[in-house]
Amino acid sequence: MDLHLDTITLVYPDGGSTLTAVDDVDVTIPSGTTTALLGPSGSGKSSLLAVAGGLTPPTAGTVRIGQDVVFHPGTTVAAATRTRLDRIGIVFQSPQLLGSLTALEQLELHAHLRGNRPASMRAQAMDLLAEVGMSDHAHKRPAQLSGGQRQRVAIARALIGTPQVLLVDEPTSALDHVRGTQVIDLITRLARELDAATLVVSHDASTLGFGRPDGPDARRTTRRRISARCVS
Ligand code: ADP
Ligand code: MG
Repeated sequence: MDLHLDTITLVYPDGGSTLTAVDDVDVTIPSGTTTALLGPSGSGKSSLLAVAGGLTPPTAGTVRIGQDVVFHPGTTVAAATRTRLDRIGIVFQSPQLLGSLTALEQLELHAHLRGNRPASMRAQAMDLLAEVGMSDHAHKRPAQLSGGQRQRVAIARALIGTPQVLLVDEPTSALDHVRGTQVIDLITRLARELDAATLVVSHDASTLGFGRPDGPDARRTTRRRISARCVS
């Protein structure tokens, strides 16, 4: 199903005044495709991702998956958590794996949190680890993996249970250009295969195959210089 961010504004309290981190952004991401959200540091990319993932309610606007309004200014934490577990996978900027669990166990725990029996999800977990090139490392803990490998485990973990939406924050920030491009290719391929509406945040347009963040094909640019572009 398509992901719609409809006129999203997010305002943070800032001492006595306020800070508008996301200013009236409209983006639609068709299912199975990947859209890059580009903009310099501080332009509100992570804030918008947090709204899209139900981690922060918008100050104004709505998030829809297909026809369903899933997040709006009045969404409760409990409702947002349920939606996130059922329908959304998130890869944070730092992989946030649990140190004591193997790669396979990270995926199984996530399947359990999503309400699936780990045993029934083992086959999908192994398939996803294979998709991200981590089959040989399924029984290793994070300390035994490189940064790029941990990130691929986090991508596989986000996709367990086949969420309708995949949100990825700055996947290339710790990688060189070649590895960054490989991770973007991996994400776009998985989005297509799993039919997930995918939003990837980056401050580095070149890794996504774009020269500059503000090219003529930017679908929409806010005053705070976020732009969204379809990658695949
Ligand atoms: P980006 O991910 O593009 O670097 P962020 O969304 O992290 O941008 O931040 C956008 C703006 O919102 C920045 O000015 C940042 O300082 C501010 N900000 C981010 N998170 C919070 C928060 N939880 N409370 C208050 N201000 C925040
Ligand atoms: Mg950020």
